[in-house]
Amino acid sequence: MTKFSDLALDPRVLQAVSEAGYETPTPIQAQAIPEALKGRDVLGIAQTGTGKTASFTLPMITLLGQGRARARMPRSLVLAPTRELAAQVAENFDIYAKHTKLTKALLIGGVAFGEQDKLIDRGVDVLIATPGRLLDHFERGKLLLTGVQIMVVDEADRMLDMGFIPDIERIFQLTPFTRQTMFYSATMAPEIERITNTFLTNPAKIEVARQATASLTITQSLIEVKPVRKDRSFGDKRAVLRALIKAEGEACTNAIIFCNRKMDVDVVAKSLKSHGFNAAPIHGDLDQSVRTKTLDAFRDGTLHLLVASDVAARGLDIPAVSHVFNFDVPSHPEDYIHRIGRTGRAGRLGKAFTISVPSDEKYLKAIEHLIKTEIPRGDLPEGYEPSTEDSRPDRAPREDRKGRERGGRGRDRERPVKPHDEAAPMQPLVVVAKAEAAADAPREERPWTVSDRHGRPRPGLHPAQLCAEGRADRRRRGSGHRHRRLRWRRRRPAPDLIRGPG
Ligand code: AMP
Repeated sequence: MTKFSDLALDPRVLQAVSEAGYETPTPIQAQAIPEALKGRDVLGIAQTGTGKTASFTLPMITLLGQGRARARMPRSLVLAPTRELAAQVAENFDIYAKHTKLTKALLIGGVAFGEQDKLIDRGVDVLIATPGRLLDHFERGKLLLTGVQIMVVDEADRMLDMGFIPDIERIFQLTPFTRQTMFYSATMAPEIERITNTFLTNPAKIEVARQATASLTITQSLIEVKPVRKDRSFGDKRAVLRALIKAEGEACTNAIIFCNRKMDVDVVAKSLKSHGFNAAPIHGDLDQSVRTKTLDAFRDGTLHLLVASDVAARGLDIPAVSHVFNFDVPSHPEDYIHRIGRTGRAGRLGKAFTISVPSDEKYLKAIEHLIKTEIPRGDLPEGYEPSTEDSRPDRAPREDRKGRERGGRGRDRERPVKPHDEAAPMQPLVVVAKAEAAADAPREERPWTVSDRHGRPRPGLHPAQLCAEGRADRRRRGSGHRHRRLRWRRRRPAPDLIRGPG
């Protein structure tokens, strides 16, 4: 078995690793570190929980050990899809680099530019960023990427889901082609393959887990709920969830509950709280400070149940989660793997329950096809009382019902909206609602890319945001005429201005 001391890492890194309590390298570390130290490009096909962060951070620190950072010219770059993941990489860097003098800056949205500018001005060895915020800094002329010797792209498949691939391609083009690239993805979608073929040079391909395999330490069960009527299913699922949590008792030390839609995340968290459970929601529409606080509480054990959307929870390293509950069957089968992978990490045992209703059948089939096995069917938990014909029908909040009526399943998923996509014609009102919600969001969280005539991304307003602004303007001026003009603009955005992500 390979030992860390066999890996030609800097002794200061070895010391930090041993202080972190790591005894042996994980498979991805044992395979990727020697290749990276030789200066080779690395293509890592690995999920979170495999130790992939250290597989790029440890060689990076060793390689950057020599040399000094220059003002505004970072020597290495790590790109992560979400703020939380970027912050997590930064935390890992601090642990592994604690005996070196290397410096880092974390560039994420929701944080003032000023402090980040100061750090970059001073010169940093490692820049850890989300793609949008990095480009914002670049476009403000505060950053040069021509000094980047090592570039890491983490969770590329999530970048693809979130519409960041054009940003990633642009960033690749801004860095020297002589750079060393380490590229990580849990799956190899055709688009990801194209990027790796374009930007990686003869990479060492390291695959640590077969694509779409679930850890053997996770016990999976499917709980099939058959409501008397379709409009009772939301309430029935909540009742099953409560009964399942109660039935697990003390074995459920902490759990993540996944919902497909952000609005349901809020409703389920609220419902659990009203039944006396210690639960809180996390999704992309919540303020960054709230998200951080919630995550901290979950990590330190003061919060028992985290109700989450896929994007918010993806890739978060929360050690020792005993249970995962899929309140909804995910409509993207690969999300099932990612969700249940939150438990049973690092060889620990975990349990994953999935609650389904009859209309989930096709999603279940897709999941079982992907994982090449049938999810074992479990019994309805003791204490669960199904609704009856006389029970109150599901009463979701008004905007929730609207979402269901308008788009049905998946409309509110934390997926990028493609505002001008022939396959999915623009839904003005839905886009406006999203644009209003996202108007204050940092660039990396905005679901569209505005481009100039040459297809170069540039900061700008989405037409729906123009409408939102117009409405505020109208309120000030009281002009009905302007109202009509803006409605027209909303329905017919200039097609060459908007490019859907990806
Ligand atoms: P990652 O896949 O990078 O998110 O890492 C998952 C977890 O595994 C993190 O909590 C790391 O601290 C931990 N970890 C990484 N490498 C090792 C190792 N060699 N031995 C034990 N734990 C590790």
